[in-house]
Amino acid sequence: MRDPNTLSNYDAWRTRHTTTNLKVDFTSKSLRGKVILELESQTDESSKEIILDSSYLDVSAIKLSGESTKWEIKDRQGANGSPVHIAVPNGAPKGDVVKVEIDVATTDKCTALQWLTPAQTSNKKAPFMFSQCQAIHARSLFPCQDTPDVKSTYTFNITSPHVVVASGVPVKGGETEGEGDEKVYKFEQKVPIPSYLYALASGDIESAPIGRISSVATGPNELKASQWELEGDMDKFLDAAEKIVFPYKWGEYNVLVLPPSFPYGGMENPIFTFATPTIISGDKQNIDVIAHELAHSWSGNLVTSCSWEHFWLNEGWTMYLERRIQASIHGSEAHIDFSAIRGWKALEESIEEFGKDHEFTKLCISHKGIDPDDAFSTVPYEKGFHFIYYLDKLVGRENFDKFIPHYFSKWANKSLDSFEFKDTFLGFFSAPEYASLKNKIAEIDWEGRFYNTGLPPKPEFDTSLVDECYKLAEKWKQKDFQPSPSDIEGWTGNQILVLLNEVQDFEEPLSVEQSQSLGETYGLTDSKNAELKSAYYHIAMKAQDTSSYQGVADLLGEVGRMKFVRPLYRSLNKVARDLALETFEKHKDFYHPICRQLVEKDLGVASNSA
Ligand SMILES: [Zn+2]
Repeated sequence: MRDPNTLSNYDAWRTRHTTTNLKVDFTSKSLRGKVILELESQTDESSKEIILDSSYLDVSAIKLSGESTKWEIKDRQGANGSPVHIAVPNGAPKGDVVKVEIDVATTDKCTALQWLTPAQTSNKKAPFMFSQCQAIHARSLFPCQDTPDVKSTYTFNITSPHVVVASGVPVKGGETEGEGDEKVYKFEQKVPIPSYLYALASGDIESAPIGRISSVATGPNELKASQWELEGDMDKFLDAAEKIVFPYKWGEYNVLVLPPSFPYGGMENPIFTFATPTIISGDKQNIDVIAHELAHSWSGNLVTSCSWEHFWLNEGWTMYLERRIQASIHGSEAHIDFSAIRGWKALEESIEEFGKDHEFTKLCISHKGIDPDDAFSTVPYEKGFHFIYYLDKLVGRENFDKFIPHYFSKWANKSLDSFEFKDTFLGFFSAPEYASLKNKIAEIDWEGRFYNTGLPPKPEFDTSLVDECYKLAEKWKQKDFQPSPSDIEGWTGNQILVLLNEVQDFEEPLSVEQSQSLGETYGLTDSKNAELKSAYYHIAMKAQDTSSYQGVADLLGEVGRMKFVRPLYRSLNKVARDLALETFEKHKDFYHPICRQLVEKDLGVASNSA
C-alpha cells in the first residue's frame, strides 16, 4: 500500500459508502452513535479480516453484516493510532460488499474536535464544536480507512440541540425532531470523498446568501459583516475557476466562518469550506483564502493526492489555480507573480526554519514514521506551485490550459501519486500536435523536482506590482525618512504586506522610534486586519520595541490561526521568553489541540503525553 500513514488493509477492502449516525453531546464533549461502513472486497475470499484506523476511540460493539464477530483494538503505533481488527471468518468474494456497524464514542483525547463553551463564542449563547480531520484525525472520530487513497460517499444523520453544518449537501426538509430540543440534521455527500474531508460543526449558526450557489454561515453577530465581506466576489471566483478547469461538481459551495480558535486559514471541506474569522477584516483584503478553498473543489477534493507524501499535488495545484483566479479577476497576469513573490518569501522562511537539507523541504516527502502534522508547512504549497507554474511556462499557457481540464477529468473521483501525475503530463504532451515541445519536455528534471531539498530554481518574476512596495521599503532604510499616510494611499492589504515583509528582512532592524512611527503612521497598530498587524509586530519585535510586546500577547489571545500564532510565539520567545510562556499558559485552552501541540514544540515545553 502506498500510504504509510494508515494501518488499514485497504488493498484488501475498500470503503464505498459510510453512514454516520452521530449525536453531538455538548455535556460530555463527545460525538457518539453508530457508524456503518460498506466495504467492497478486493480479494477472492482470501482476506479474513478488515483492519481500520482508530485513535483514542471508545468502541463498544462491532457487527459484521448484522451478526456479531470477533474484533480487537491493537496497541497504539504513534500518530498512526490503534488498528481495529475485525474478523471476516469466511472472507468475501471479490466485489462483494460487507457492512461493518460500529458503536463508537469519541474521548477527551480526540484530536479532531474542538469544543467551545458559550463563553468562548462571540454571542455567548450556545456552545460550539467543529471538526478538523486533515491530515489523519478522522480516525479520532470513528474507525475508518483513514487514507486519502480511499474515497467513499457519505450519509450524515447528526443529532444536536444546535444547528449542524457538514461536508454534505443538506437534505431539503430532512430535519426531524429528536429528543427535547434536539434535531436530526441530514446531509448526503454523493461525490466520493477521502476521510480527511469528513467535517461537522454545530452551534448557534445562521446563514445568508453570498452567491448563486453560495451562502455564508456563522454566528448571528458576525453574519452581516461576513456576508458583506464575501458577497461581492463569490460568483466572480466561481466563474473564473469554472472557466479555467470545468463546471463545479458539488452542487453548493458555502463558507462557514468559525470562531477565532480555528487553526487554519481555511479547510476545504466540501459543500462548506471552514474558514478563519481573520478573513472578515472589514476591508475585503483577505478573501483570497476563499479563492484558494474554492479551487480545492477541483484540486484536492475531486482529484486527490493518494497519501501525505504527495500532498503537493493538492496544494501546489490549488495555489496555482488560486493565483490564476486572482489574475483573471484583476484582468492582469502580473497578479500571479505578485502573489507568487509573497509565496516565495514564505517558502524561503520555511526552508530556513527546517534547514535546507531537511527531508520536509522536498516536494515528495517520505512519511514513514512521520506525523503529517509535523511535516506540514508552506513547502508543498509554494514548491508545488512553482513546479506547476514552471510546467505552464514550459509548454506555454495555451497548451497548458488544455492540459488542465484533461488532468482533472482523468483523475476526477480518484487519488494519484506524483508518478501518475508525471505519466499523465507526459502522455498528454506526447500527442502529435505537441511534437514541437518534445525537446523542452525532455528537459524536465522530474527526479530533481520531486526529491531535491531546499529551494527550487527561482523563476524570473514579473515585479511590476511589487516595485512600488520595494521603493517605499528602500526609503525606510534611511534613518531620517519622514513617513506620511499618503505613502500607502490606495494600496491593497497585500501590497502593504510586501512592504512590511521587506522591512522585516532588513539586515539592520529599524530603530524603536522608526518602528513605532511605521505602526502609527500607517495605522498598523490598531488595524483590524490580523495579517497586517502580525507582520507589523514582527518588525516591532525585531526592533526590540518593548512597548509592542503586550500588543503581541493580546493578539495571541484573539487569533488562533496557526499562520499567525506560531511565528508570533517564535518571535516573542526570542525577545521575551517569560511573556511568551505566560501568554501561552493563559491562552492554551483557547487554541485548537493541533495548534496547542505545535506551539508547545515551538516553545520547547512539549509534554510528550500525546
Ligand atoms: Zn489548500
